[in-house]
Amino acid sequence: MLHFYYGVMGSSKTAMLLMQRYNYMQLGLKVALVKPAIDTRISVNTVYSRVGLQAQAEIVLEKGHSIREQLNWLAVQHAHSDFQYVFVDEAQFLTEAQVLEMADMADDLEIFCYGLKTDFMGNFFPGSAALLRWAEDVQEVPGSLCWCGRKATMNTRVDGKGNVIKQGEQVLIDNQDEIRYIGLCYRHWREGKSHG
Ligand SMILES: [Zn+2]
Repeated sequence: MLHFYYGVMGSSKTAMLLMQRYNYMQLGLKVALVKPAIDTRISVNTVYSRVGLQAQAEIVLEKGHSIREQLNWLAVQHAHSDFQYVFVDEAQFLTEAQVLEMADMADDLEIFCYGLKTDFMGNFFPGSAALLRWAEDVQEVPGSLCWCGRKATMNTRVDGKGNVIKQGEQVLIDNQDEIRYIGLCYRHWREGKSHG
């Protein structure tokens, strides 16, 4: 089955992914950790959580990559048979073709995708839109709060001075101009208020 667990920035999605993966590994199950190449926090293959957990991804998926081919390659490298569980971090950066391939593979494989639903402008990421369409299990990762105490649902881009930015490229990860991302409630995202 293909699963999509989505949440805003700060909802500890990656920590949840890493804990779930750890639990499966403790049971002796064969797991693979995958991340799209676009996320360059820390280093290319590190899956990093804000609460401090981290792990090395076995597969860094480039835009043109087939995940089926990559998993087959990994199985050969590790000299054992196919993986039973696949975990994908930052799944919003998957391409539509990769999500469709995963949906087809998920007849006999459990694939857990964790990621953002929408970008800082409130638009879908390509990977998220595809996952919302085709994943059989879609769940929200709760836990992120706006500064006002209400549930944060909107990913918000702010500059070094805390000003909310509403326009620009969809993906800006390398901390250019001290850009960072926070979660706000819908009202405060709409009003552009990043603090009280
Ligand atoms: Zn708020």
